Amino acid sequence: MRLSWRVLPIAVTGALLAASSAAAPYTFPLLDTPARIDRACAASVAQAHVMQRRLEAAPADATLLGALDDVAQHLEDVGGPVGLLSAVHPDAAVRRAAQACERRQQAFVSAFLQNTRIHRSLGQVVPGDDIDRRFRDEQLDAFEDAGVALTPTRRLRAQEIARNVGRLGQDFERRILEDSRTVAFFERELDGVPKAVWAGARKDPLGRYRLGLDAPTYQSVFEHATRAATRERMWRAGLAQGGAANLRTLGQIVALRRDEAALHGFASYADFVLRRRMAHDESTVTSFLASVQQAVAQRELADLAELQTAQKEPLQRWDVPYLTERLRRERHGIDQEQFRTYFPPEASLAFVFRLAERLFGVTFEPQPQPLWHQDVRAFAVREGPQGAYLGTLFVDLYPRAGKYNHAAVWGLRNVSTRTGRTPAAALVVNFNRAGLNLDELETLLHEFGHALHGLLSATRYASQGGTNVQLDFVEAPSQMLEDWVYDPKVVALFQEVCATCPPVPDGLLARAFAAREFGKGLRFARQRLFAGYDLALYGRQPGDPMGLWRGMEAGTPLGHVPGTMFPAGFAHIAGGYAAGYYGYLWSLVIAEDLRTAFADDRLSAATGQRYRETVLSQGGQVDAAELLRRFLGRPTDNTAFFRALARP
Ligand SMILES: [Zn+2]
Repeated sequence: MRLSWRVLPIAVTGALLAASSAAAPYTFPLLDTPARIDRACAASVAQAHVMQRRLEAAPADATLLGALDDVAQHLEDVGGPVGLLSAVHPDAAVRRAAQACERRQQAFVSAFLQNTRIHRSLGQVVPGDDIDRRFRDEQLDAFEDAGVALTPTRRLRAQEIARNVGRLGQDFERRILEDSRTVAFFERELDGVPKAVWAGARKDPLGRYRLGLDAPTYQSVFEHATRAATRERMWRAGLAQGGAANLRTLGQIVALRRDEAALHGFASYADFVLRRRMAHDESTVTSFLASVQQAVAQRELADLAELQTAQKEPLQRWDVPYLTERLRRERHGIDQEQFRTYFPPEASLAFVFRLAERLFGVTFEPQPQPLWHQDVRAFAVREGPQGAYLGTLFVDLYPRAGKYNHAAVWGLRNVSTRTGRTPAAALVVNFNRAGLNLDELETLLHEFGHALHGLLSATRYASQGGTNVQLDFVEAPSQMLEDWVYDPKVVALFQEVCATCPPVPDGLLARAFAAREFGKGLRFARQRLFAGYDLALYGRQPGDPMGLWRGMEAGTPLGHVPGTMFPAGFAHIAGGYAAGYYGYLWSLVIAEDLRTAFADDRLSAATGQRYRETVLSQGGQVDAAELLRRFLGRPTDNTAFFRALARP
């Protein structure tokens, strides 16, 4: 997922505005030209300064907490939509203006969080209850992390670092987003690749099809091309995305973050940020990753040995997804392509909506409005049919030029029961119009899980709404839902929402689950490597990004392929997941534990409602470990995770 709001440790909307907006469904603001974005941005930042001056003079009592959250809500009103548009708007000029606005807001926030007067008042607030106490403490942490307690010179340096990291992070993402390179293939070179993937592509003067690097195309070639040379060329193009410029940028970001940690007296950026997470410190993460590695190392080698039996030539990295799919086909009769007829995109959306209705009692009603592209739609989320309005979900399903090319959810704005503010989220994916395969249906459920976290949240403060939880917990509610797609009872919901969708044949999902278990050693070893790399990059002995990666990848069974530059496209760690990529594995431990509560019935409304009330609705206003204890009736543990990992 994407954590765009984390750029703003505190969120933005005036209390006056919010109070009147409680009943009316949210509509996306009209920000479709650079001029409109500039104007909205300037007005928003100017108003934020006014709010800041009022806060400086405000009494140091509990009303200060609400006033602080008002600033967060105010900034979010423009910052939320603009953060999304910077990654999805079809017009590059609009995306640029949106990025400029993000930088302006960021500059305001980093200065605001160094305001000593507001910080001092905040420290004097006596909280009325546990929610207020947690909110106050988190805000104090945010001020402290921004450098409020540093000397004036160091404070300016902290602002400068925040500004530069923000700008460099945008450069990094933009180079990936706007990488329009194509790889040219003659038809015969595309043997094995479904025709629908390439038949419509532009041809070059030699009659070769020019294929882009959007997810549906890239993955299809990679998984299906029977010729190794075709797979290799596509794979190499993918691993050149971002280019040498991004390697330089990543190096600068890493150095700046190290400087930032040093300003605060920490030996590494990992030490600086991990103290705010569930994991608390680097040694806990290191030993966790080591235990994962230990659990999968043998299995990784066994997977590789099995893949090697499928071809005479020595195994290469670009052979792995192709051979994995081939063995899944041969051994289990599972071909990801075969699922597309069962899961048309529109029906898939209706399916996840129905799942939310069964589990949580909410419905989704089309809410037509002008949006950033004709493919995008809005849905009002309601409590039961025609019930109270809860929030709005925007859905952007298909690939196009200049659009963010992975899958993510943007939390556009967060709920606040204090001001009657309703939440809104945007789900962005890149699906094949012919239908989804099972992996993509899993992705849809994962992202939908993030959207639900935001939409079903009911927190007092927007700054703690929905996915504003600790970074190493945030993936858990989404990951929990991923394996719902292997449950025939869940997938049978398709027949409730789509009259023309053929039912998935008996036994197919069980075979698909067994097929997915094959290759698990490779998959987890790779995730562990990514997490270990991220941690090392932001650790005490960082090297240059490419040198460090080369060394670490060279230590894996398949080694490093000269000329590839994976870190240049690793947007997570240039952005908000710095020293946080381990969170995907850490959250998965929690997700596996959460699944135990739904083991008997994944459509149980009783368990669903209890989960909604104890976990989703609480967002980040209660400590994650405590939420899990309340829901599970015991402290969370890693038993289910390591059992699943060891499953033959
Ligand atoms: Zn996610």
